[in-house]
Amino acid sequence: MREKVKIIMLGAPGAGKGTQAKMISEKYNIPHISTGDIFRFNIKNGTELGMEAKKYMDQGLLVPDELTVKILLDRVAKDDCKDGYVLDGFPRNIPQAEVLDNALGEIDDKIDFAIDVDVPDENIIKRMSGRRACINCGATYHMENIPPKKEGICDDCGAEIVLRDDDRPKTVGKRLDVYHEQTQPLIDFYQAKGILRTVDGTIDMKDVFAAICDILDR
Ligand code: ADP
Ligand code: AMP
Repeated sequence: MREKVKIIMLGAPGAGKGTQAKMISEKYNIPHISTGDIFRFNIKNGTELGMEAKKYMDQGLLVPDELTVKILLDRVAKDDCKDGYVLDGFPRNIPQAEVLDNALGEIDDKIDFAIDVDVPDENIIKRMSGRRACINCGATYHMENIPPKKEGICDDCGAEIVLRDDDRPKTVGKRLDVYHEQTQPLIDFYQAKGILRTVDGTIDMKDVFAAICDILDR
């Protein structure tokens, strides 16, 4: 089993990045860092950052880089990240990727793999309308594909699971546009660096995970 690995998860909103990142984090014992989760945590706690981020998230837009980049760089500088991590939802555009590369370069470090979870737009719309997220711990379910044991209740912490505000159909369309315009170019960016790996995200989540483990263990 490979350890000390630094991974970026790429893919459209709803492709299954978070689902897979959680499994990677558990198996390889590295932190799962989701900028979306960090923003939602701040929104829940009513912080200034949360209130600012919410304005953009509710419209399906990216939170400005000035707010996002510092949070991420501070997080990966923490002690628990020294043996690796899996990033979920960052970078979301080329400037974020460049800032991350430069910051890692300064400490003679680099990302090992950018894993693109590939799911066509048609499947995404269905995925997002069925997604439910725990209001307390952020664990993610799907009403049909990955239901909780007890309806409406998180398996992990027992809190309520709800449809995210930004998973409503109108916002999902905007988020997909933003993905194609700003995030998808990262596929070529990491391809050029030789670290892009692509997995089919339309299959069962356990099979997606097996494909990812094959890549990481190779
Ligand atoms: P992302 O982090 O990329 O936005 P999530 O991991 O939250 O995506 O997954 C989006 C939705 O699709 C969730 O409801 C999740 O339970 C469901 N899901 C994730 N992986 C699969 C899969 N392989 N097959 C079917 N549904 C999936
Ligand atoms: P996610 O949980 O990854 O689907 O992210 C939810 C929302 O948080 C996105 O639609 C953005 O508004 C915001 N967000 C998360 N990560 C980033 C990022 N790296 N850059 C900008 N905005 C982000």
